[in-house]
Amino acid sequence: MSRLKVSAVPVLSDNYVWLITNPDTGETAAVDPSVGDPVLDEVATEGLRLTQILNTHWHPDHTGGNQGIKAATGAPITAPAEAQKVSSVDRIVSEGDRVTIAGADAVVWDIPAHTAGHVAYYFEDEGMIFVGDTMFAMGCGRLFEGTAEQMYSNMQRIAALPDDVRIYCGHEYTLANARFALHAEPENQDVARRLEQVSEMRERGEVTLPTTVAQERATNPFVRALDVEEFARLRSEKDSFR
Ligand SMILES: [Zn+2]
Repeated sequence: MSRLKVSAVPVLSDNYVWLITNPDTGETAAVDPSVGDPVLDEVATEGLRLTQILNTHWHPDHTGGNQGIKAATGAPITAPAEAQKVSSVDRIVSEGDRVTIAGADAVVWDIPAHTAGHVAYYFEDEGMIFVGDTMFAMGCGRLFEGTAEQMYSNMQRIAALPDDVRIYCGHEYTLANARFALHAEPENQDVARRLEQVSEMRERGEVTLPTTVAQERATNPFVRALDVEEFARLRSEKDSFR
């Protein structure tokens, strides 16, 4: 079904750099490279050709590897304008722009709130979206540069995609999010089951991503919030939840 292959390079304490590879050509894009060397090592080990760098937002744990990877490979950097605060950018993108990545088409979405210029890359034909720090499995990003209204509408927009669209997030936060989700919806059996699954996966050291639109509709309290007031209450409760 899907043509491109996606793999995770775990870096720092809980970041994932996603590698999007075209298996026919070896062309590979690195999404949100926090650091350069582990990404370059992985690409060399797998015999891939790193030809593009994509950023979802400007935070240094999503852009810190840009310059090192570009220097080593010549790969151009595609990013929202805000990334220029911390990196050179070869192509600035925003809502509705189309980009070709490893031979496949993606459309850019503006999804501000975690940062003011945060974008997502949606590969409609491949059934996958890269959402950075906007949505996490069973959770959502913090509101550093935007409002609850913006973030709630981002949740609704992503959740309106087809059920089987895979969602690639920037961090391994699923276990902590699952605990909060059960606190938010103690009667939700899907949440209880997923918490158990995710605990086992993390004990085995497995990556819990990507998630899917269907899973998030069933288990993500921020997606399931009935209105922006409920969303805002959950978001502020999560900020201090332990
Ligand atoms: Zn961030």
